[in-house]
Amino acid sequence: MSNAFFNVPKAINEPVKSYAPGSPERKELQAMYAALKNSTTDAPMIIGGKEIRTGKTVSMHPPHDRAHVLGNYHQGTAEHVNQAIAAALEARKTWANTPWQDRAAIFLKAAELLAGPFRAKMNAATMLCQSKNAFQAEIDAACEMIDFFRFNVQFMTEIYAGQPESAPGIWNRLEYRPLEGFVFAITPFNFTSIAANLCAAPALMGNVVVWKPSNTQIYSAHVIMELFKEAGLPDGVINLIHVNSSVIADTIFKSPDFSGVHFTGSTNVFNQLWRNIGANLETYKGYPRIVGETGGKDFIIAHKSANAKEVATGMVRGAFEYQGQKCSAASRTYLPSNLADEILALVKKDVESFKVGSPEDFSNFVNAVIDEKSFDKIANYIEYVKTRDDAEFVCGGTYDKSKGYFIAPTVVKTTNPLFRTMCEEIFGPFLTVYVYDADKFEEALETLDKSSEYALTGAIFSQDRAAINTATKMLENAAGNFYINDKPTGAVVGQQPFGGARASGTNDKAGAPQNLMRWVNTRTIKETFVPPTDYRYPFLG
Ligand code: NAD
Repeated sequence: MSNAFFNVPKAINEPVKSYAPGSPERKELQAMYAALKNSTTDAPMIIGGKEIRTGKTVSMHPPHDRAHVLGNYHQGTAEHVNQAIAAALEARKTWANTPWQDRAAIFLKAAELLAGPFRAKMNAATMLCQSKNAFQAEIDAACEMIDFFRFNVQFMTEIYAGQPESAPGIWNRLEYRPLEGFVFAITPFNFTSIAANLCAAPALMGNVVVWKPSNTQIYSAHVIMELFKEAGLPDGVINLIHVNSSVIADTIFKSPDFSGVHFTGSTNVFNQLWRNIGANLETYKGYPRIVGETGGKDFIIAHKSANAKEVATGMVRGAFEYQGQKCSAASRTYLPSNLADEILALVKKDVESFKVGSPEDFSNFVNAVIDEKSFDKIANYIEYVKTRDDAEFVCGGTYDKSKGYFIAPTVVKTTNPLFRTMCEEIFGPFLTVYVYDADKFEEALETLDKSSEYALTGAIFSQDRAAINTATKMLENAAGNFYINDKPTGAVVGQQPFGGARASGTNDKAGAPQNLMRWVNTRTIKETFVPPTDYRYPFLG
């Protein structure tokens, strides 16, 4: 019997381990990395808790060591997608009626398992699969994923506690039930924690999920599924499929039970998904929830009052950590003419001190970009700069894919505020800088606001409060996460709810109550204790 209003443990952010030389976590992670590297994984799809091997396999390789084989994943067809939908709907019969405290306990247990026995494996898998250094893996695959689980449990209880007023003689209640059908999670390569959260957030709220990870994240996706199983998530609540995107339109989006998509990835793909959903609208039982966090062209603008060293450090960390493959990574910077030379000299010195290579060597700050397609795209931008006389390299501008997909961290300075690389998302270690007239700050803000379709993250550096206020006001639509005297990356769950508007997505703020609200339907129940027995109101007398 569960007749009580339970309090959940207060969510706290998972402390980040240092991995400093001699630390026990470093030793454990290095041993796990070696163990995973020296073994191979045969990655099945997981449908209704069953491992599905089709024999049609695709090999998996670390981006920094393309000849090395991590294993194979089994590729499925439309038939497997339909099996996954059926398994999800079967699991829904029980899961949607599972008491919230049991759902909470499963995800709280997942958080504790990840903080302890799963930590090294999740981090090592992310290092190998997505080429993250130990620190980048730790803040993503361990800490952020733990934070998502813990904070979402707390937010769920806060949502359920939201109840309407009741006038005398009646009782009003609000129920929060899961969506009527299944949720489709489509996840990007760049954050293991985002992949887990796009499945876990709807599941926590009582939904069942079909999950298609990015092909370049399947290796670490399997560790997530292991974690969910170990935490006690029932079979069929989250179903992992490996299919080509081309089969999605004819399966998922044609199912009457499709009730929502939880997407993170590029803007073009999201637009295509939205169009597919729109084309099938009459098929569905309800209006599907469409939640998408998409691309960015994240900025830093420095005011003439800024501290040059602070700006340079913000640029270097904001643009190059994880090879610039964070959706929040700074990729365009506006520097005032009075400080530009000093800041660029500091940036160049820092960037040229980076070591680039495999994450296995802990002294490497920058690792490989995710795959050949991404490498070629960034290399094309570098070649484009070489053909132009309105831009020049401050540093970098070279690339080499003989061993892995390595791009030298690149800074380009342009005289054209609308230069292609000031406007388009590149998603790599590539930062473009435009120097504006230090006395025309507001003009620079206007240009910034208009030169990209995106509005994800951005930062202002200034020592002048009035300038900070002007930027905060004039850029209110330019970034969903706005930073004052800080780099535009590194949002922490529970502290800086994350997401952007314009072409950067639906701005439903991952890891926040706003996002969880998208995965419930509400029903208002009004109960009258002593109903009236005469239709006549007193004024009729
Ligand atoms: P992507 O758009 O290439 O892929 C995302 C997912 O969509 C993958 O699982 C992919 O297989 C799938 N996909 C691709 N085409 C599809 C189609 N036609 N139908 C169905 N699914 C399809 O993105 P990516 O390269 O994995 O990730 C990088 C992108 O994600 C960048 O644009 C980045 O800005 C964005 N991102 C945004 C946020 C955010 O919070 N706003 C966070 C992380 C990444």
